[in-house]
Amino acid sequence: MAAPQSILLTGASGFIAKHILLRLLNAGHSVTGSVRSRDREDEVRAAVGTHLTDPTAQDRLRFVTLDLTQDAGWEAAFAGVEALIHTASPFPITQPKDEQDLIRPAVDGTLRALKAAQAAGVARVVLTSSVAAIAYRAPSAAKPVMDEDDWSDLDHPTATAYVKSKTLAERAAWDFAAKAPGLALTTINPVLVTGPPLDRHFGSSISVIERVLASKDPMLPNFGFGIVDVRDVAEMHLRALERPETSGRRYIAADRFLWFKDIAEIIAALYPYRRITRRVAPDFVVRALSLFDPSIRTILPGLGRRDELSNARARGEMGMNFLNAADSIRDTARFLVENELVT
Ligand code: NAP
Repeated sequence: MAAPQSILLTGASGFIAKHILLRLLNAGHSVTGSVRSRDREDEVRAAVGTHLTDPTAQDRLRFVTLDLTQDAGWEAAFAGVEALIHTASPFPITQPKDEQDLIRPAVDGTLRALKAAQAAGVARVVLTSSVAAIAYRAPSAAKPVMDEDDWSDLDHPTATAYVKSKTLAERAAWDFAAKAPGLALTTINPVLVTGPPLDRHFGSSISVIERVLASKDPMLPNFGFGIVDVRDVAEMHLRALERPETSGRRYIAADRFLWFKDIAEIIAALYPYRRITRRVAPDFVVRALSLFDPSIRTILPGLGRRDELSNARARGEMGMNFLNAADSIRDTARFLVENELVT
């Protein structure tokens, strides 16, 4: 089966989606990008514009307005479309008071996208899920390295509203695909995504690096993340589209785990003249600070926790050779400094 040529990319204004869009256009695809407001069209065009190998590729890009929480426009958005890449999902820095503010758009939006795809006869779907749908569960001594067979446990203390939103959305997608035999689904499950944004409108994950670079905190929490570069995440979406054998599979996108302290050391070595906080706070201090700063609260259950995730499937089946997380952090920091986004 030939790879689909005409793609609907939801959430085209997002940090990851702009990288996917750039690759799709450079690979010769036609793209319908969905945005919440047409005001963002020029921003998205400008973000990819300077990186296009063929400037006329912009002619293969059109925009539609879609909201995950509303029915309007979905049917028309699929006109002439052969495949769906669904990236849109709320990804805020702080968790909302009502977890349904995240869960509802994530789950309902995924189902809206899949139903509209099915109604339009679109057979190929790639969903941007997350490691949030895999790793937030009790560690298993019998299986210390998690893989695509694992699912987050919604009752585990680390299961934030975001974790629930991504887990329930991905579950809903697999349940839907199981009852839609003509619809081939692949999910990409990234860890924290870093790497240079295509413009200044970047999402929550880059703010983690910004926070370290700006030395916003007097000490660092004993907390860490799996890291993957945005260029690899975008590439995986394309490889999934191009390889029918990835259908029905989940793929973890990850290079390696880094503690906040590791990230700070990498940035401090890159910019020795900058004052970069490298001291790690005792956990009780972080707990106390969280009483005043709600953005800290979400990391409390993960203090001191190191999740090991296997990227063997992506390497073996997609031929991914992941960029080193340290290089990704350095490229992110360079972007923020060169664009004067940190003082
Ligand atoms: P982002 O820049 O915040 O992008 C999120 C996108 O979703 C934006 O285009 C946003 O539109 C759109 N969106 C949010 N709520 C919407 C709604 N109600 N209706 C329509 N569109 C809506 O974040 P990102 O990092 O690129 O994330 C993209 C995807 O990757 C998400 O599914 C996220 O869960 C997943 N992911 C991200 C990471 C990471 O570390 N970055 C890791 C794993 C998975 P607006 O621009 O209008 O807000």
